[in-house]
Amino acid sequence: NQDKFKQVIAHAKEYGYIFSSSEIYDGLSAVYDYGQNGAELKNNIKTYWWKSMVQLHEEIVGLDAAILMHPKTWKASGHVDAFNDPLIDNKDSKKRYRADVLIEDYCEKLEQKAQKEITKAKKRFGDDFDEEQFVNTHPRVVKYRSQQKEIMQRMAKSLDAENLADVKSLIEELEIACPESGSRKWTDVKQFNLMFGTKLGASADSASDLYLRPETAQGIFVNFANVQKTGRMKIPFGIAQIGKAFRNEIVARQFIFRQREFEQMEMQYFVRPGDELKWFEYWKEQRQKWHQSLGLGEENYRFHDHEKLAHYANAATDIEFNFPFGFKELEGIHSRTDFDLKAHEKMSGKKLQFFDPELNKNYVPYVIETSIGLDRMFLAVFATALQDEELEDGSSRTVLKIPSILAPVKAAVFPLLKRDGLPEIAHEIVDQLKWDFNVTYDEKDAVGRRYRRQDAAGTPFCITVDHETKEDGCVTIRHRDTMEQKRVKIEELNAIIAKEVSF
Ligand code: ATP
Repeated sequence: NQDKFKQVIAHAKEYGYIFSSSEIYDGLSAVYDYGQNGAELKNNIKTYWWKSMVQLHEEIVGLDAAILMHPKTWKASGHVDAFNDPLIDNKDSKKRYRADVLIEDYCEKLEQKAQKEITKAKKRFGDDFDEEQFVNTHPRVVKYRSQQKEIMQRMAKSLDAENLADVKSLIEELEIACPESGSRKWTDVKQFNLMFGTKLGASADSASDLYLRPETAQGIFVNFANVQKTGRMKIPFGIAQIGKAFRNEIVARQFIFRQREFEQMEMQYFVRPGDELKWFEYWKEQRQKWHQSLGLGEENYRFHDHEKLAHYANAATDIEFNFPFGFKELEGIHSRTDFDLKAHEKMSGKKLQFFDPELNKNYVPYVIETSIGLDRMFLAVFATALQDEELEDGSSRTVLKIPSILAPVKAAVFPLLKRDGLPEIAHEIVDQLKWDFNVTYDEKDAVGRRYRRQDAAGTPFCITVDHETKEDGCVTIRHRDTMEQKRVKIEELNAIIAKEVSF
């Protein structure tokens, strides 16, 4: 599936979904920018989550806490002392990590060799240089690239099959092929905290050391009492938040799957102690329903219950998704006990409790957390949507079947020709639709090519104005997925589109 993954990355760039950050300076590792379509898709995923979690749940409210928090927050939460990559906590994970580092170094070495050949050839051929043709035919470049591909495929296969003996033998092979990689020592990793540090103001003393938050959850915990009191919330109740989080990931790869700056959509649900496992099951089911409502295919999801639990949890499960590189964590659901609130009580000296009138007593509530990575959800939607289809007439098309409700642009309006008053009518239709939906106008190229362009960009509807429109007030509306075309009245367009794309 490496090819599919490459296609996803290339397509995301070509259609304005995702760019490398600061690309003109050759990018910043594991940081990405969302382009004109990506920003819309991301917003739509956020809204879909927010509406279902906050708007549809009377007992859940939202919050937007700051990224910068008092440094004591991270002492209380345990992140200062123990936020090392959990991957390195046991022997098997060490092996995986070692393999990852080695592969990264080995591929980089091969890629440098390939780039050297390309630079040499560029110099030699000047303006006539066809890079694409060169990299596809030059024997050494082809070899360097295929060696990279082969090693990554072998590794992915062994990891997917959890075949750690294979992983071990790969490590041995790579250590011979890439001896300089040995200088990356374990010990370095153990001391490596994943939080990004920064400074408050101009002061140089360490009391002003801050961190960019590595998770949004703590912004919710420190506001527990504020929200509970001002919102007069009764247990069980939840606080939801969408926001940026930062982790200085050591092995940050796989495109937007593992980034150093990313967004989380989290909800902390406060419950009566003893009831937590009931609510844990409830949220597992709710979140599963949410995912399934988007129609990405039930077979692409699976639960992975944790046998080994973090010290603060008494139940935990991951919702895994079938990404182009295999099943990987998309969302975590954790029963976090009263660990966080208790830790903040202790650190701050403030009471973080709830008076339960039914039990007639105060307690620190237990917490169920649902935490989904917005960028991972984006990747799940995008990668599943991207399809190459063979059509009945023998031709093929690339189509991005993003669920219409999430699609960045809902409709594209075309005049059949750039004359005879057709563009004017098309613009009027854009004006009629734009108050309800994000729509676009396109008059370049033949209509067939415009259809293909919108298919590949993920636009569910194309609307074409032709000469008859002037007579009958009707246009042709074509659906991305079925490619079916119908003639409908211009006045009906808003309702037809709304039926498919509204929340
Ligand atoms: P992983 O095991 O993949 O590192 P995690 O268990 O550390 O993830 P959590 O701390 O539970 O992740 O964070 C909740 C969610 O945030 C994850 O399910 C994931 O969707 C998202 N997430 C975590 N780290 C990243 C990252 N570096 N880039 C993008 N999304 C992330």
